[in-house]
Amino acid sequence: MRSVEEHQHVVAGLITARPAVSVALADAEGLVLAEEVSAPVALPLFDNSAMDGYAVRAEDVAAATPEHPVTLPVTEDIPAGRTDIPALRPGSAHRIMTGAPIPAGATAVVPVEATDGRTDVVTISAAPPEGRHIRRAGEDVSVGTAVLRAGQPVTPAVVGLAAALGLRRLTVIPRQQVLVISTGSELVPPGRALQPGQIYESNSPMLAAAVRDAGAGVIATATTGDDVGQFVAVLDRYAAESDLIITSGGVSAGAYEVVKDAFGGAGHQDGDQQVEFVKVAMQPGMPQGAGRVVGTPIVTLPGNPVSALVSFEVFIRPALRVAMSLPNPDRPRESAVLTERLASPAGKRQFRRGVFDADAGTVAACGPPGSHHLRWLASANCLLDIGVDVTEIPAGSRLQIWDLR
Ligand code: AMP
Ligand code: MG
Repeated sequence: MRSVEEHQHVVAGLITARPAVSVALADAEGLVLAEEVSAPVALPLFDNSAMDGYAVRAEDVAAATPEHPVTLPVTEDIPAGRTDIPALRPGSAHRIMTGAPIPAGATAVVPVEATDGRTDVVTISAAPPEGRHIRRAGEDVSVGTAVLRAGQPVTPAVVGLAAALGLRRLTVIPRQQVLVISTGSELVPPGRALQPGQIYESNSPMLAAAVRDAGAGVIATATTGDDVGQFVAVLDRYAAESDLIITSGGVSAGAYEVVKDAFGGAGHQDGDQQVEFVKVAMQPGMPQGAGRVVGTPIVTLPGNPVSALVSFEVFIRPALRVAMSLPNPDRPRESAVLTERLASPAGKRQFRRGVFDADAGTVAACGPPGSHHLRWLASANCLLDIGVDVTEIPAGSRLQIWDLR
């Protein structure tokens, strides 16, 4: 049997970064910059007012106090966005709004609160020092400064800075595009009537959600019966344009194992299709497979919903995030005190679903270990990571958990 670490290594080796691309700002958020960005313009672009008030020459109002205010004629009105800015003549004031260009000759702005606010002649009752309430061109960013570095995640603030610099596109490491295929002749999409023996298909919406939650994109989701022709038709349609294919079901030891059958069973490889089916020493999620189909990486997960999602967490999520250079490829690991006794199978690393109480530093198992208990997975907030050789964990023991919150 293959260890969890060995299979993680195999999957991580398959999923590789795509070449950097230039994308519109709106599509860059959540991705990572592939290149340094230097400022093509200064910020602020020009000297502008930090307040609504009056642009003055500081020496004209140097004597102003509440008891002895200074009165000046208001010769211009400069709202933000005005593009023709007449110079300020000595002995006068221009009314000016926040963000409007400072007129030539002005050396300070008096906030409207320190005036009577009039628009013909203004009475000013405070003396601003030179430069007061003027935002200088380039004081935030000067032209040519490296303002964003390669490897930096594109946050809303990064989008804002790029837009302020007049950039419409950013060069990023693109999202991995993933094809998700569910297999099983018993599966029916929600919304259709069920015949006896049929169930609703839940893995493709679940895994697609997990792909998006990991920061990647979904090319398509598809469901096929246990029919090699159907399955191969989906591969033919989407495999070449996908960065990764994830399948669920059809990899166990029974008959009608469509995914195994499509690749000729364990051991058989031809030039275009090299998929290896293995047993991994873990529970849930023992039957696994990985390889390539016409060059595209494929990871074949078991069909039981809990096995499928836990396998995604263990093998695929970290590899996808690494390939996109996203921060924190691994879920945060915490140490927590187990509130009950648990048993675990010998020779398998067990991932039980749990509820972690971060305040108390405790963790309780959430539902039974069986891999069909999807309900418990939905109410868990962590995975308990139980070592391969551990068979019994007394209440009060310390345990490593994977924080899914
Ligand atoms: P398999 O791995 O194909 O043998 O499937 C194992 C179990 O998981 C069976 O009970 C299947 O019915 C169930 N299962 C497989 N795929 C899905 C799916 N997409 N949605 C819900 N249950 C599934
Ligand atoms: Mg099946």
